[in-house]
This record gives sequence, C-alpha cells and structure tokens, in this order.
Amino acid sequence: MSYVGRFAPSPTGPLHLGSLVTAIGSFLHARQAGGEWLVRIEDIDPPRELAGAAADILRTLESLGLEWDRSVLYQSSRQDVYRETAERLLTAGQAFRCDCSRSTVRAANDATPGRYLGTCRDKRLKGLHTAIRLRVAEPSTICFVDGLQGAQATHLDGTTGDYIVLRRDGLPAYHLAVVLDDVAQGVTTIVRGVDLLDSTAAHIYLQRTLGVPTPAYWHLPIIVNAQGQKLSKQTGAPAVYASKSGVALRALELLGLTVPADLRAEPPRSLWQWAQAHWQIESLRDRRAVTEPRKE
Ligand code: GLU
Repeated sequence: MSYVGRFAPSPTGPLHLGSLVTAIGSFLHARQAGGEWLVRIEDIDPPRELAGAAADILRTLESLGLEWDRSVLYQSSRQDVYRETAERLLTAGQAFRCDCSRSTVRAANDATPGRYLGTCRDKRLKGLHTAIRLRVAEPSTICFVDGLQGAQATHLDGTTGDYIVLRRDGLPAYHLAVVLDDVAQGVTTIVRGVDLLDSTAAHIYLQRTLGVPTPAYWHLPIIVNAQGQKLSKQTGAPAVYASKSGVALRALELLGLTVPADLRAEPPRSLWQWAQAHWQIESLRDRRAVTEPRKE
C-alpha cells in the first residue's frame, strides 16, 4: 500500500516552533517513504479560530518549501458528512442522544474528570439541543503499537466512556472529523504530537465501529520550553515566519538533526533533501518531550 501522510493544523493561530516540528516530522517521514504528504485545515471549531490563521499557516509552509500534494482539505467543507455519519451511528444504535451539560458530567464523576457514566444511554432522547455520543461497549480496551511510543493499551470505558461525536451545537467533535477525514483522504500513516496519543484509542474504537482501516501511528515528542510547558499560543510561543533565519535549522535540531555548516546558510527549501536522507525518526523513540530552551 502506498504511503499517504498528513499535517492537520487547527487554525487557532500561526505556526509556532512546536507545530512546525510536527509539520516537518510528518513531511520527512512521508517523503522518506516515497509517499504523499497532505495538508488539512481542521477548522471545525469557529469560536476557537483566529481570522486569517489558516492562510497564514499555509503561507509559512509554502515559503519554507514544505510543499504538499493534492489540494488542501478544509474540514469546514465537510459538515454534512460528519452530521450524516453521526445520524447513521444513531440509527444503527451505535450512538445515542444526550442532553447532559458539561457540568453535570463533571459532577457525576469526580474520580475520572470528563468520563461519561452513561446517564442518557437508555433514555432514547430525541431532537434538538442534544449531543450525539458514541456507545462504548465492552470489550473497550484498545491495544495498538505506536511507531515511537511502543505498545499502548487504553480501557476506553474507564477513561472517556461514551464520548461525543457531534456536539449539541451541531458541530462535529474532533474525534469524528479526524477519523472520517483520514479515511476520506486515504491516510495510511499519522505522524503527530504525543499530546494526541491519548485520543488515539477513541479514534481506533470509532474506526472499528465504522468498519474502516486503522492507519499506523507515530507520536512525536512535544516541544516544551525551559519551564517544561508545551510550546503553544497559550504559553506565548512566538509565530514562526520563514523570513526569520534559523527557524528550519532549529526545528530540525529538535528532531535530532544537526545541519552541516556548509548548508546552514542555505534557504530552508534546500534543506529538505538533505534532511530526508539523514533523519532517523527512531532517534526519538520513547521521548515524550524535547526542550527548546531558547526564547525569540
Ligand atoms: N488539529 C489537531 C491539532 O492541531 C491535530 C489533529 C491530528 O493531527 O490528528 O492539534
């Protein structure tokens, strides 16, 4: 089977060093395999988006010479598919409607915050202002081997319980959108940040429920600052712009590659060939975090 990989940023802000490392890691892994590399904009949550961020992210990737295949897929163009699938799960009895508020769910279970205890499972609720939850039936232990993080086992019923696939405001949950889009795009290999490792069991459970293939997963370490916080908009990580010299060199260093002196002055787009030939993803095995001590 030929390799199809992807980078799937949410347009909540411009790329920062942490998200650039994920972009480059997924790009290099795909190119090393002679595969395709796709870009998907995960714009399913308008309240969390920043106007102009999607275009900004694409411009930065482009100017760094990280060229993607096919056209960019925008999740906002696929709302009907998400909704129809959620309805189909409902009709098949694999999902149910729930009118619990977030605080009711939280109050019902102090031990595992966010875990749903099945309150509306058998209520047969109808209609508006309800979320749709996937029925998580036993055996709900999902085992898989992550390319970098090794063997994983998650007991879904004990962690998430029946989780939301369509929110009460009609927007799809991340779990549903990501699974359906990876299938639609024929993605075979997912390289992303280890902060999403815990979501993977929910994705695999949904793939099995829908009868679609499970891709291979490789979870890269996240990039943290000197205080151990994940680089993100919230922790004040500055935007990366291609014009800033050194950003590609720093991202490659965080992935375990030291670019030789004679290439360091070259524009970023001429580094990828070299990086493809030299990057060893295995050097990041079992690493959950890599520290970027420098500030802009
Ligand atoms: N859109 C997600 C994010 O920006 C990534 C989703 C994924 O790679 O599965 O965190």
